[in-house]
Amino acid sequence: MKKKVFATALAAIVTVLALVGCGNAASDSSQATNGTLIVGTNAAFPPFEYVGDDGKPDGFDIALIKAIGEKIGMDVQVQDMEFDSLVSSIGGKIDVAIAGMTVTEERKQTVDFSDSYYEAVQAVIVPKGASIATADDLKNLKIGVQLGTTGEFIADEIEGASVSAYNKAVDAVNDLNNGRVDCVIVDKNPAEVFGTQFSDKVDVLPGTNFNFEPEHYAIALPKGNTDLAGKINNALKELKEDGTYDKLVSQYIEE
Ligand code: GLN
Repeated sequence: MKKKVFATALAAIVTVLALVGCGNAASDSSQATNGTLIVGTNAAFPPFEYVGDDGKPDGFDIALIKAIGEKIGMDVQVQDMEFDSLVSSIGGKIDVAIAGMTVTEERKQTVDFSDSYYEAVQAVIVPKGASIATADDLKNLKIGVQLGTTGEFIADEIEGASVSAYNKAVDAVNDLNNGRVDCVIVDKNPAEVFGTQFSDKVDVLPGTNFNFEPEHYAIALPKGNTDLAGKINNALKELKEDGTYDKLVSQYIEE
């Protein structure tokens, strides 16, 4: 009889522990545990992410995260949101973010990053024929940037610059075209896309002319979720080895 009571009590304790365990896992990363990966992006950063003809987010990052999802056996659901709110939404509204996001020490206080999947640098978009060529020429200018980006952090450090931050980089370029700002600082690949789109109005100058440092894009992950980080890094490695990564680069970036 005593034995039976003990066994029942033990079973109850085990059940409670199991439930508590599940509770923790669920609050850790609720969606990521049930086979769906909710991915935040900002679909206004071509060629990495933009709204496709079908109205859904498309681009290199979107194709890459879907390929990663396939490798790790998870459904990928993409949520389009402001770039500026991606980092703070990780572990809440979204599980991870892929958004041409540069690894920075400041962001690393809040999130972890996967291995880097692309190297970039900021570029400077200027009105055609403008006499802007070196770092010194950027001093005291009106500079357009995208809100919360490394372009904004760089512009904020430029002596005498007055910085206007926009939710979408293209809005900064529109203000360049109507003379409200003197130049735009934005990552080189979107800069090239805008350069082609407005080829009669703007020139795109490489950031190396202005001593900008290289930047590394990575997927932002919930802090401390080493299991998910490991799976994503393995998948990235496999996609590089099996040629999928190179295929996506030539499909989306080097068209
Ligand atoms: N690479 C820049 C950053 O991480 C810009 C990214 C973006 O605008 N999507 O801040």
